Amino acid sequence: MRRACARVDPAAPLVHHASAPPARSRPIVDPPAPVIALRGAGRTYGQTVALHPTDLDFAPGATTVLIGPSGCGKSTLLRLIVGLVEPTAGDVRLFDTPVTRQTAPALRRRLGYVIQAGGLFPHLTAGANAALMARHLGWSRAKRAERLTELAEQVHLPAELLERFPGELSGGQRQRVALMRALMLDPEVVLLDEPLGALDPMIRADLQVELKEVFQRLKKTVVMVTHDLAEAAWFADRIVLLRAGRIVQAGTLDDLTQRPADDFVTTFVNAQRSLHLEAS
Ligand code: ADP
Repeated sequence: MRRACARVDPAAPLVHHASAPPARSRPIVDPPAPVIALRGAGRTYGQTVALHPTDLDFAPGATTVLIGPSGCGKSTLLRLIVGLVEPTAGDVRLFDTPVTRQTAPALRRRLGYVIQAGGLFPHLTAGANAALMARHLGWSRAKRAERLTELAEQVHLPAELLERFPGELSGGQRQRVALMRALMLDPEVVLLDEPLGALDPMIRADLQVELKEVFQRLKKTVVMVTHDLAEAAWFADRIVLLRAGRIVQAGTLDDLTQRPADDFVTTFVNAQRSLHLEAS
């Protein structure tokens, strides 16, 4: 791992005289090491290339949104990071550790993962779903309850709903519980695969505001998949646009609209604009 280092000032005297003020060396701080790093990481399924070999770094505390047409490799990229699929080329490093079958289970405890449908167990209450991993790790009942109360407040879920089963909650409430589960162990990284995709527009808009506020307050490194450019622009420090398993452009919405890497970027942006016009 790269560390912050101080450069020695060549003009500074090697021996300080008692009367002379100490010479100051100017600290040079390296950019922080990426939390997630793909190095030529790719994935094929037989003849299908889900993701071509890709290099991509994710800086601590930043929100990256992966976007692109259906089948372009967004979910595959996310699953490679989580260690749910193994790369067929290159490697993925999380917290400077290669993600392998052996390392993935321990690394996953430092990740929160939210999927579109929430992925809650229907036979467990919302609270039990959110606290599942903490229970597995041996947290006491009191510690679990305390953390659940804290998280319910953070994601604006009335605490009494924690007693309900997922089937007794609305889609938006279920996604709040899924988010609580992802945040339970206070992970450094949160990965979200179309977390708001199944929600109706009003609930979705509310959750967009709240989610962004939570991520900013907790200073998480966030990677989110969406197919909606407006949503991407709302959340992202950086938008990564994929097409057919390759990154076409990574940048801000301004970069994509004002400095498109190729015609596909413009076509994609314009198609999204007309989608929003149709929807409004
Ligand atoms: P996206 O999330 O952008 O819709 P995916 O990453 O799910 O795209 O899929 C990328 C490509 O890889 C698609 O062509 C998809 O059919 C293929 N793919 C993904 N997962 C599998 C799998 N388990 N088996 C076979 N093909 C897969």
